[in-house]
Amino acid sequence: MEFPKENFSEWYNEVVEVAGLVDKRYPVKGMHIWRPYGWKIMQNIDNYFREIFSEYGHDEVNFPLLVPETEFKKEAEHIRGFEDEVFWVTHGGLNPLEVKLLLRPTSETAMYPMFSLWIRSHADLPLKIFQIVNIFRYETKQTRTFIRMREVHFFEAHTAHESYEDAERQIEEDIEIWKKIAEKLALPYRIVKKAEWDKFPGAIYSLGVETVMPSGRTLQIATFHQYGQNFSKPYGIEYLKENGEHEYVYQTTFGMSERLLGAIVGIHGDDRGLILPPEIAPIQVVIVPIVTKKKEEILKEAKKIKEELKEFRVHLDDRDNYTPGYKFYDWELRGVPLRLEIGPRDMEKKQVVLVRRDTREKIIVSREEYGEKIRELLGEIQKNLKEKAEAEMKGRIKRVGSIEEIKMNNAVSEVHWCGSEECGAKIEELTEKKIIGSPVHEKESGKCLICGKETDNFAYVAKPY
Ligand code: ZN
Repeated sequence: MEFPKENFSEWYNEVVEVAGLVDKRYPVKGMHIWRPYGWKIMQNIDNYFREIFSEYGHDEVNFPLLVPETEFKKEAEHIRGFEDEVFWVTHGGLNPLEVKLLLRPTSETAMYPMFSLWIRSHADLPLKIFQIVNIFRYETKQTRTFIRMREVHFFEAHTAHESYEDAERQIEEDIEIWKKIAEKLALPYRIVKKAEWDKFPGAIYSLGVETVMPSGRTLQIATFHQYGQNFSKPYGIEYLKENGEHEYVYQTTFGMSERLLGAIVGIHGDDRGLILPPEIAPIQVVIVPIVTKKKEEILKEAKKIKEELKEFRVHLDDRDNYTPGYKFYDWELRGVPLRLEIGPRDMEKKQVVLVRRDTREKIIVSREEYGEKIRELLGEIQKNLKEKAEAEMKGRIKRVGSIEEIKMNNAVSEVHWCGSEECGAKIEELTEKKIIGSPVHEKESGKCLICGKETDNFAYVAKPY
């Protein structure tokens, strides 16, 4: 059986389930069950977050899931952005609650009342924390595994600083951290500044990390927000400066979610199923013994191989009731980067057969050198996935100069846009697409597509997930 990736939406919806990532049969819309294989991938990603963020001086915390309505209502714009998508807890047992509680849609309003107690003086700054938790949003649109869910596995880093400049430097550091994450996940991306009307509710500005799925639709996979003092004022987060004056802190956040896994599935997979980057694959090498004859001997040798390859994440498929052919198919579907075959002939010759998941290339290597070869191949697969994905994404972003071209383009259009809300609204209306944001690192002068004004600002226009 194959899964034609041409029909991307169907392919995606099917592959997340048949590859053992999730079970969608849970009887609440937008809440899927993480199955062991999917959860292991997510855990590998989370563990990397823990490693990299602690390297950069962040500490992990864990806040309660429930937020009192009174705290939620302190920052006006934030409420407007979220009030139609929160789930409420209104009763304790049979008793109506005096103060309603909500399930966090994100954690500003849970954390910042505590920040006002924790932060006293400049010696407490910068404060850099993160948590990995589930958030809840009442999505009314069609839900999709990892991409649009009502319960979302979420990463959020929150920082507080002495000055706006310090907060700006934090965002630069966030981008540096993101680049390392993108290498680990082999994901291509562009960083954009979100339009004024599209920024995070309560932020001064928001940056989005956008990738492009094979469908041509964009997927936002990370965000960085500059809050300035927009939250510290309503939440009373002040610190004592060296000169004895009080000042409100300057804050930022960095958010990511299970969407990263959605991007990995969508961008790297093929007609045979998933292709996982070796860095985060739960199984990097799967050993498939070819046991047509000399069964006991070969199984014994396969176990020995597993022992010898301890430095990698190795799985020995010694299931009795399946043919090697079925096993090949099964592990290809699950995206294991390397398959190692050992049969009677290989045993005689003191060799193994390695098969790459990404190129399907077969490599015969002697038992003396195979550890080194596997290390090399896993590195090559990681690199190849990133390069291939980057090239594909590049092909999905097209510079255009007219409304008609944007409409015809079934991926991302890049156009000159003066940045005004008026022209932006017009572009969205005429094309029935969205302004995804302005690419951060590209400047080139031209004329706004709508008003004709001289500008060096671009907009990406596309259909987002
Ligand atoms: Zn304009």
